[in-house]
Amino acid sequence: MMMANDLQGVSPLSQDDGYPVYDGVIGLVGDEDMNDRTHKASIDGYVKVSYKNNSIEKTVDICNRDPDERRVLEIRCFILKEPFLDVGYVSDWTNPNSKPIGVGNGKFDFDNLNGNKDANGLDIFDLGEPSEPFLDYSCGENKDFRRGEDPYFNPDSDGWGAVINPDYVLDQIKRANIAWAQACIKINEIEPVEVVDIPEETLSNNWFNFQSKGKFDFLNDAELIFNAFKENYIINDQIVYVFFNTDMTKKGARGIAYDSRNTHFPHNGHSLTFISAHSELGYRTLAHEIGHILSYLGDPDYGNDAITDRHIFFPRTPIIYMDNTPFTTRRLTSETVEECQKNEKLLKPYY
Ligand SMILES: [Zn+2]
Repeated sequence: MMMANDLQGVSPLSQDDGYPVYDGVIGLVGDEDMNDRTHKASIDGYVKVSYKNNSIEKTVDICNRDPDERRVLEIRCFILKEPFLDVGYVSDWTNPNSKPIGVGNGKFDFDNLNGNKDANGLDIFDLGEPSEPFLDYSCGENKDFRRGEDPYFNPDSDGWGAVINPDYVLDQIKRANIAWAQACIKINEIEPVEVVDIPEETLSNNWFNFQSKGKFDFLNDAELIFNAFKENYIINDQIVYVFFNTDMTKKGARGIAYDSRNTHFPHNGHSLTFISAHSELGYRTLAHEIGHILSYLGDPDYGNDAITDRHIFFPRTPIIYMDNTPFTTRRLTSETVEECQKNEKLLKPYY
C-alpha cells in the first residue's frame, strides 16, 4: 500500500506509514521491516515486485508515464498585513490640542519614538510607540484593535506586520502536495511568498471597523483586494493566486475559492483563493481550496450542490477531522481525481 510522505509536527507513530501491519502469518510487522506492506511513495516513484529470488521482477510507476499522467499546478502566494484602522494616532493624549496624525491616508501611521529605521531608511514600528489601532492577528486569536501605546497589550505581541509568517504558507503547500499526489498533481510555488500591504481601497470597507474585528467578508473584501492586486502585479489565468489573511466573517469557514468560472465578482477567468491564516495545518485548507478550483465544484453540503460524496476534497466529510486523525479519510474519490485532472487550463506538463 502506497502512503503519503510524513507530515511535519506529527509523531512518527501517527504518520500514515507509521502503523505496524499484520503480515497474516507471524504477526505484527514494524515499519519498513521485511513484509511491511505500507510504504511511502511520491509521484515520481515506482513499485518493484520481485518473485522467487528476483527471477521475475516487475516495476510499476506510481503515476503513469506513457503518456505522462503527472501534472504541475502553479501557484503564487501572498500574505496580507494585519488590519488597522486608518484613524490616525495621537502622540500625547494629555494634550487637549493634539490632533490625530495620518487620518485616512491609506497607510499605517505611528510615532517612531526611538527613530529606528530599516535598510531602506523606512521607520520601524515598535510596540509601545503611539500608533493607529491594529489587530495583532499573528499572535493568537482575533482580539480587538489596539493602539501601539496601549499598556495592556498582549505581552506576546510582535506589533503590526504580516498576518502570519511565510513558514506557515510553506507548510500549507507541503500538505497540499501530499493531498494531491494521489491525483499525480504537484503544486509548485513559482515565486517566493510575498508579504503585501493592504490595498488602500479596502480601508474604508467593513474589514476595517471595530465591529468586524478585522474579519474578512468574502463577498466584498475579496473583490476589493483582488482588484487592487491586479493594479500592482502582472497576472495570468493559468496560475492560482493564494491570499493568506484574517478569519472569515462566515462562521467556521477556513477558506474560500474562486475558480475561473465563478461569478461572485468579475475576476476575468482568474483563479484565486483566500485562506484564514489561523486555519490549523491539519485541515489542509489550501489543498481543499485547490480542489474547488480544479474541479469547478462546490462543497457537497453547501448551497446548490447535491448532497453527494462525489467531489469530496480531503478532508471534507460530514464532520471535518484533521489529517492526523485515524478515522478520517485521506483519499480523494476517483471521480474527484478524474474531474480535477481534466482542468487543462491550469494543469501544466510535468517538470
Ligand atoms: Zn470547500
